[in-house]
Amino acid sequence: MKLINDPCGVFCIVFTYVSIVYADYVVIKWVVLHTMQDSLWAPFHIVLFNTFLLLLTVSHLRAMCSDPGTVPIPHSTDTLCDLRQVNEPLVKREDWTLCTRCETYRPPRAHHCRICKRCVRRMDHHCPWINNCVGEKNQKYFVQFLFLVCILSAYTIILVIMSWVRECHKCKLYDMEMRERQVIHTVLLIMESAMFGMFVVAILYDQMDAIYTDQTTLEQTVYKRSNPLHRYIFSSICRWPKISRSMSKLNIRSV
Ligand SMILES: [Zn+2]
Ligand SMILES: [Zn+2]
Repeated sequence: MKLINDPCGVFCIVFTYVSIVYADYVVIKWVVLHTMQDSLWAPFHIVLFNTFLLLLTVSHLRAMCSDPGTVPIPHSTDTLCDLRQVNEPLVKREDWTLCTRCETYRPPRAHHCRICKRCVRRMDHHCPWINNCVGEKNQKYFVQFLFLVCILSAYTIILVIMSWVRECHKCKLYDMEMRERQVIHTVLLIMESAMFGMFVVAILYDQMDAIYTDQTTLEQTVYKRSNPLHRYIFSSICRWPKISRSMSKLNIRSV
């Protein structure tokens, strides 16, 4: 486990966990216990919501702390020349390339991350929300995390709307200040859930597209930036997956 020292990533992590704790607080205190305290639905929703929250936290921690697939750096070399001399006879693979930034040989589809300062196998992108790269080894945890955020966002919005719609005779006994606080907290929670939900649905769509087409987000970006002729040729032959994949490798190497 290695935490990346990136201020933006650290801020996003803190923001994520503050949002999780706040959502749990509002759902339990101002949504469930406020309107369903005499019903068996209250323990049901609290247990179900916190189970999803626990799964979300575990998937986030695994995406954040696990190795995304960093290419190991040989310890026996000090300079780029030494590395080339030592590793070239051993590697003998034409499709492997030398990274001039972290000075290591990397397999096809590996890319250098400027924030992690390492090459990562099948790197998709660097995500500040997990303060880590999304790569070959941790993409499944990242997708799990996105999927759970979608479920929790929808579940939270449904719970809040249910609490608004539900007739709660005890609410009439609360004073105005209490009701105002409940409205403020639930509106903030709806905004938080909608913001995270819409943001994550867009990322999840990109991730599913990347998995389905076997092209990482980075490779798709490179493809879009390539010249129009190249793009036309690529799109005209992309029906054949093997050719498509080899073309995408060409695209990456040409960067
Ligand atoms: Zn590198
Ligand atoms: Zn990275």
